[in-house]
Amino acid sequence: MNTTKQPSKFSRFIRNNVALLLLIFCVLAITAVVLAVTLTRDNTPIDDNPVVNNPNDDEPGNTKPSEDDPTVPSKKKINVYFSAPVAYDSVGMEFTFGPSNLFVFKSTLNEWSAHKAVDLAGNEGDEVKAMYDGTVIDVGYTFLKGYYVTVDHGENVIATYASVKDTQVTKGATVKQGDVLAYIGTTAENEYREGPHLHLEVLVDNKAVDPMPYVNGEVFRTIEVDA
Ligand SMILES: [Zn+2]
Repeated sequence: MNTTKQPSKFSRFIRNNVALLLLIFCVLAITAVVLAVTLTRDNTPIDDNPVVNNPNDDEPGNTKPSEDDPTVPSKKKINVYFSAPVAYDSVGMEFTFGPSNLFVFKSTLNEWSAHKAVDLAGNEGDEVKAMYDGTVIDVGYTFLKGYYVTVDHGENVIATYASVKDTQVTKGATVKQGDVLAYIGTTAENEYREGPHLHLEVLVDNKAVDPMPYVNGEVFRTIEVDA
């Protein structure tokens, strides 16, 4: 008697407490996700410094390199360099946002102003590629920049690829280094006299910097990959 009644009591309990059980399940699920994220983050090195000469000296707690531990899959550090966004013929207007060289003459507008970018001259329709992995955070048009694609390349580096046409990506898209973002055009209204070119801006911590070290492949990130 008792044993046959038990299941029906149990199922009635479940039916009457669906909301409570769902809530408990949700709490457990969220806890599991938070735990998983926390554990994953702990395993990810947050070392921004690409040059590590003596990791053991820098971190007193790190007495044993992971290579010696057979349970930890061995990792190796590699440098991944930024790459040129276009196969450019020449640099038109250079980056001119510094104390020594503040202004540049813009022939089209017949005025002097800072040019916080570089203009990489190429052929109309040439591919404009992502210099590094990232996330597209804006695609749009302004009178000064023409059509543009803005990519967050991580570590507070944001690049805007402007004076382009036929944008190939949408806001929110994830891009890999070398992915085609758009094509070289003449859409920046105040720079059309320069001919087809990519107007490239790079912000680091929200401040404009000379993009050429990125274009020339002098900037890199050190990442860890499986050995
Ligand atoms: Zn420009």
